[in-house]
Amino acid sequence: MSERKVALVTGAASGIGQAVAVAYAQAGVAVVGGTFKGDPHDPDRTGALAAQAGGICVMQELDVADTESVERFAQLAIDRFGRIDHVVANAGILRASPLVDMTDEQWRQMLEVDLTGVMRTFRAAARRMRQGGGMVAISSIAGGVYGWEEHAHYAAAKAGVPGLCRSIAVELAGRGIRCNAIIPGLIETPQSLDAVNSLGPVGLAAAARMIPLGRVGTPDDVARLVLFLAGEDAAYITGQSVVVDGGLTVR
Ligand code: NAD
Repeated sequence: MSERKVALVTGAASGIGQAVAVAYAQAGVAVVGGTFKGDPHDPDRTGALAAQAGGICVMQELDVADTESVERFAQLAIDRFGRIDHVVANAGILRASPLVDMTDEQWRQMLEVDLTGVMRTFRAAARRMRQGGGMVAISSIAGGVYGWEEHAHYAAAKAGVPGLCRSIAVELAGRGIRCNAIIPGLIETPQSLDAVNSLGPVGLAAAARMIPLGRVGTPDDVARLVLFLAGEDAAYITGQSVVVDGGLTVR
């Protein structure tokens, strides 16, 4: 069994997941990162950045909509390192669709990835974790405190995440495993830079003027909170949802 701690990070080839994987590598935590087939980003990039940071990130193909794939992903951490200490359910999709045009399939796919995918990730990890550890899921202000037209399916999926985390927190507390949700506002990543399904570069620049701290968030802004909530500094925090949005939702 590895002396160092081990983190599972889904959606680690880009954006927030990549920043989390590199931050863990910097902190001396070994990472098993998930990369989705068909993702345009080079998964080797995350591994290379982790190595530059003096750590290790093993990338594995992962589809959080597929139970077997998620079980294989969690098992790789056991086979490679013998343990799982931190779990970051970050993978997600964002699609825009007016309610009147939304198909059942669009709704189902969104819930499969953005909500059920979180459950599958935590379930597979919980089956293999021993005493102690931290789980963190990435929700969104769209699921908690902010209405967003043409994103009802995304909002519904993301709204489920804090509830899932609260119940898991209570259920796994006896094993010393904590579970919290993060509610990011606008973070500059491939997802938010997509001008079709999200704000795009122009929309993000305009939104920055509405944000009290005067800028859109970076993946590192979220990664720092992930490492705090999953780690020992948050030993007495569980079942909570923490907003990281530069003050957007309190203005
Ligand atoms: P991103 O697109 O860079 O990251 C999403 C990752 O999820 C990608 O690497 C993608 O390949 C992966 N993924 C997609 N479908 C998958 C599947 N079926 N199985 C496994 N992996 C899959 O964008 P991001 O902004 O870094 O997104 C990370 C998380 O943060 C998402 O859950 C997103 O909804 C959430 N979020 C982002 C913002 C923002 O402003 N960027 C705001 C709130 C919440």
